[in-house]
Amino acid sequence: DTIPANLERAIEHYPDHEALVAVHQDIRWTYRQFGDHVRDIAKSLMHAGLEPGDRLGLWAPNYAEWTLVQYATAEIGVILVNINPAYRTHELEYALNQSGCKWLIAAPEFKGSDYVAMVAEIADRVPSLEKAVFFWTDEWNHLYEGDEYVSDDELNARRDALQPDDPINIQYTSGTTGFPKGATLTHRNILNNGYFVAELQGFNHGDRLCIPVPFYHCFGMVMGNLGCTSHAATMVIPGDAFDPAAVLRAVEEERCTALYGVPTMFIAELGLPDFDSYDLSSLRTGVMAGSPCPVEVMKQCVDRMHMDDVTICYGMTETSPVSTQTLPDDSLHHRTATVGRAHPHVEVRIADPETGETMQRGETGEFCTRGYSVMQGYWNESQKTRAAIDDEGWMHTGDLAVMADDGYCNIVGRIKDMVIRGGENIYPREIEEFLYTHPDIEDVQAIGVPDERYGEELMVWVKVRAGATIDEDEVREFCRGQIAHFKVPRYVKFVGDFPMTVTGKVRKVEMREQSIAELG
Ligand code: ATP
Ligand code: MG
Repeated sequence: DTIPANLERAIEHYPDHEALVAVHQDIRWTYRQFGDHVRDIAKSLMHAGLEPGDRLGLWAPNYAEWTLVQYATAEIGVILVNINPAYRTHELEYALNQSGCKWLIAAPEFKGSDYVAMVAEIADRVPSLEKAVFFWTDEWNHLYEGDEYVSDDELNARRDALQPDDPINIQYTSGTTGFPKGATLTHRNILNNGYFVAELQGFNHGDRLCIPVPFYHCFGMVMGNLGCTSHAATMVIPGDAFDPAAVLRAVEEERCTALYGVPTMFIAELGLPDFDSYDLSSLRTGVMAGSPCPVEVMKQCVDRMHMDDVTICYGMTETSPVSTQTLPDDSLHHRTATVGRAHPHVEVRIADPETGETMQRGETGEFCTRGYSVMQGYWNESQKTRAAIDDEGWMHTGDLAVMADDGYCNIVGRIKDMVIRGGENIYPREIEEFLYTHPDIEDVQAIGVPDERYGEELMVWVKVRAGATIDEDEVREFCRGQIAHFKVPRYVKFVGDFPMTVTGKVRKVEMREQSIAELG
């Protein structure tokens, strides 16, 4: 299917069912209303001269209007370019130029940043850019009147010419390990992936999904939005930026059945002082993904948030994004110690990072995947594409993983993050999991820093629980005797926060840079 053909089905079968609730904007749209808005905007964009394959940038946090633009561009074959709301002029200019955007639709401002002024500042340096429209201005409101210029037949003719393998979306990777790369994704890529992620959680039209993860990232727009519309379920947006209390309030008031988040979001929600005052009994399932989930957090999601069916997903922007997922009735072991098995219609292979040969079950190697979900390539970066996708179609993820006999996979870490101390491989994840069990430690991240004697030494950054006190020696003492001596961190640093990407991932690159500067 194409995305518009798929949306049409939900509208046809469940016209009066709620498609979207934006709690912070006091917006509620049924599928019929949602579809009407989408088609009106699609018609306006078509009338304005946007052609299939043209790029349109969308630079805004989670508003209801974001989803309208997402589905409107898909109706007319325009490639949506997701732009991170945390980007500032330099990165915005890069993304618009790199993808060659003809149009930009943006929020007028966010969290005190004036987007209108920033766009004005760079517009001259983006030759492809013909127009910038800001939400809620007259010009934006005018887009809802597309009906006056383009007929249903004209829109349908455009829509019917679309093919599932047309590119429809450019998504920049999180930039956790370096500069973001633009993954080019098709209807087939992301519609199927969103569908299967929801399907594996047992979604149907009765589900109401709370989406606190950003739309500009695949977690929000594919697993969230496309997961919902492909099942005629309801998208519930709790706010424009992550606020743990707003999330729990939305779950309670909207009787959400599912909740998404990266582990740090669940940690923040579980850590609210008034956590017990929220009624979360409507929750059944959800997805935790994006980075490794500490076992303890998973247990608490099940025990205290009622998310008995919560699943874990693993994937990356380049693979639409999900490659493996646990199932709701998997054992707690599988749901805490693994990221599940290969998704339907997707192949997974663990390969020797040096030779490319397939490893034995139980051995650590690079996670490679092949199937409908692999992106077309990095937009305008054929060299990087060739480095990532081999001649046989395998996407090399750069992640280290182990596959057990039963096919369940475990992500050990990124090849780039592995610490090699005196010839011993240390996976930061193992140390993080271990220290996480200390009652005074709220969160912890491990990295390698250069060392003359051992090549690299292990360093941990520790976030101490409110009211608790623990010093460096206690951290090391806690490790001694329980983990191998070479894995006991040489350096311990106490911090209030970790450097993060907007997608909620810890930027270890930045931790390393800071630590190296501090250690001299
Ligand atoms: P960049 O590629 O720009 O450095 P990024 O890889 O963080 O950034 P994304 O595509 O958003 O950008 O994230 C994909 C990566 O996130 C995966 O390659 C993997 O390292 C990590 N990841 C995703 N899900 C999980 C998970 N369930 N457990 C562990 N790691 C995960
Ligand atoms: Mg990546």
